[in-house]
Amino acid sequence: MSFTRPNIIRPPSEWRSYFLPLTSGCSNNTCTFCGYYGSKLQMRDIAHVKTEIDALALFVRSGIRVPDIPGTVYTVAQDWDGRRIFLQDGDALVYPFAKLLETLQYTNEKLPGVERIATYATPQDILRRTVDELKELRQLKLGILYTGLETGHDELLQKIGKIVDSDQVIEAGKRVKEAGISFSVTVILGLAGVEGSQKHALETARVLTQIDPQYVGALTLTLVPGTPLYEEWERHEFHPLSPFQSLEELRSIIENSSFTDCFFSSMHASNYLSVRGRLPQERDRMLRQLDKVLASRDASLLRPEFLRGL
Ligand code: SF4
Repeated sequence: MSFTRPNIIRPPSEWRSYFLPLTSGCSNNTCTFCGYYGSKLQMRDIAHVKTEIDALALFVRSGIRVPDIPGTVYTVAQDWDGRRIFLQDGDALVYPFAKLLETLQYTNEKLPGVERIATYATPQDILRRTVDELKELRQLKLGILYTGLETGHDELLQKIGKIVDSDQVIEAGKRVKEAGISFSVTVILGLAGVEGSQKHALETARVLTQIDPQYVGALTLTLVPGTPLYEEWERHEFHPLSPFQSLEELRSIIENSSFTDCFFSSMHASNYLSVRGRLPQERDRMLRQLDKVLASRDASLLRPEFLRGL
């Protein structure tokens, strides 16, 4: 089967990266809220990955476009800062380890200006690697891994199909940090609906505290048609939070978590309000910002529903 180039789904901070597909889909395609639900994992032939790296290097060096290389490569390359590469797709760390090493070595050789390589990774992908293996990747400029914790609430983790528990995510985080790779963790506001909101927030704060990552990104749940959670909502079995309830959840996570030095943000387009800052240093300012909006209940201070993105 020929490889299907995935759409670009990326963390906000990777907006200037070059997006290099190694896989398509996600190996853990069972998360009931996610657009990757039911996706078929495809591994890209490494020869094609190298051909793309060659074409990119040639374009960067001399502006020459190679026939037969998809136009997307050049569209992305035109906006590229030349410094960061993001490996697609849903969990590119699942790419066979030897091939991943080869890809990173080739990237370093052909594109020496690249400073940092990043990818999404499931906790399972991370736990399949030893600290020494992760260190090998670090030496080849894999500088950050983005992982979805989504919630620290174990029952909810099971219910939404993550197939890991919070202890495994904590262990994965420790391994990544020990290897010298930055760890960025995503949590999803509203994932437990109205009934589970408080527990979701408190358990998420507990697990974030134990992971103590360098970055936390909060997203707000968006119900995606075709997913089991969307169907639950259609059957009136899932009761989504209101925008202000999701801000209360965000407030509770910030208030109840404790970090050594973490950049915490809700900058993602799915959120109703962008709050960001270093924790613990800026906790009071961030809580004050949230309290002000929560006290006003002024919907005009929030991102309108039609401007929210996935
Ligand atoms: S592991 Fe991540 S990308 Fe894969 S289905 Fe779950 S939420 Fe989606």
